[in-house]
Amino acid sequence: MPLTTNSTYQADAGFEIKGMMMSYNVFIPRLYNWCKSLNFEAGKIMPSRAFCADESQGYPIIMIAKHFGTFPFNHGRAGGIVATDRHGPHGPHGENLVIIQASHVGYDPQTKQFGHYRRLQTNNAVCSPSCGKIDHTLEWYQNEYQFAQQNIRLHNQDNQECITIDNQLLRENREEGLFLNLETLIKPNSDKQYVPIKRLSTAKVYVASSAFVSSIGKSAFHADMPQIIGENLKANTFYFQRQISQTEEGAQHLERNLLAHMPQVITSTFPLLVAAQLNTQIEFDRTFRTIVKEHSYQSKKVLFVAGLNIDISPEMEQIFPLTKFVPWAAYFQDSDGNYTTFEQPELMQALKQQSTENPDQIDLEDAIQHMTKAKEVIIDLENI
Ligand SMILES: [Zn+2]
Repeated sequence: MPLTTNSTYQADAGFEIKGMMMSYNVFIPRLYNWCKSLNFEAGKIMPSRAFCADESQGYPIIMIAKHFGTFPFNHGRAGGIVATDRHGPHGPHGENLVIIQASHVGYDPQTKQFGHYRRLQTNNAVCSPSCGKIDHTLEWYQNEYQFAQQNIRLHNQDNQECITIDNQLLRENREEGLFLNLETLIKPNSDKQYVPIKRLSTAKVYVASSAFVSSIGKSAFHADMPQIIGENLKANTFYFQRQISQTEEGAQHLERNLLAHMPQVITSTFPLLVAAQLNTQIEFDRTFRTIVKEHSYQSKKVLFVAGLNIDISPEMEQIFPLTKFVPWAAYFQDSDGNYTTFEQPELMQALKQQSTENPDQIDLEDAIQHMTKAKEVIIDLENI
């Protein structure tokens, strides 16, 4: 498949959500205690987060500050992309280093739908797409898909299941667009060619492949009027090509991560959930090698944890969301350079073994009071 992507990630590598969720007020103390069990020294740990820019990511950041006793370094770009060029400055900021990466998705407990988040600061506290960056990235692909859904038709002609395809969708020399895997839809002739049985002004009619007919059922092919293919245009029947920037960690990095998986993403029940989950998987796979190679992390202990943030829309009286974390994988390196990766069940087990009590946590309100009362420092401008 001629895909404009460098992602080789296998999207079907199992990411479990069921039984894997942990609220942030439980996850972060467990993570802190796990760090201590790995001989991270209290007071010498510099946490960092690679989160999206949304306000919904604030509560997790506050919990990190509270339990690690310092405001975390920022490793995040929109959509939950890890800014690996910030490893360099992060390394010297602590003796022991932690990076938490998470893409995120909104959840509305009233409708039980993923992909939306209540914005309490808007006039009517409206729900809008979350993650917005991912939603915006999917738009072009969803439009292309909707066009194809409307412009491929199925019908039964003389007891033969036929498929009529718009000419634009058949043009192979396009640079961008939705391209069909013709072998999944059309029955080839004896020379293994996909030859139409009829040419219309803007489309061609083919005999549908028996595998396609049996996958969607003969009843989808009506004898009277051709019907649009609609939801029967499944993820295995098409792929996308798009000319996008190949800049590593550039504005289209998220799109580049998702391009090969877009058919799976946009045909799923909750595209924003599947996209966020895939992005986390791809970012972990990409980022851990950059940590291995990073000079400023050498001779230091580093723990990198990746997962998915599920932002539960706040009720009217709540200031913060009840964000849940779904751990995906972790990487740990000790100060001698030995390293281990933890797959999802192992990571979950490592976290669950830890206490949710953290005697080292700070009282943020006290800390703010303390700063308010601290003696003012006059900045000396004489040497300017
Ligand atoms: Zn976002």
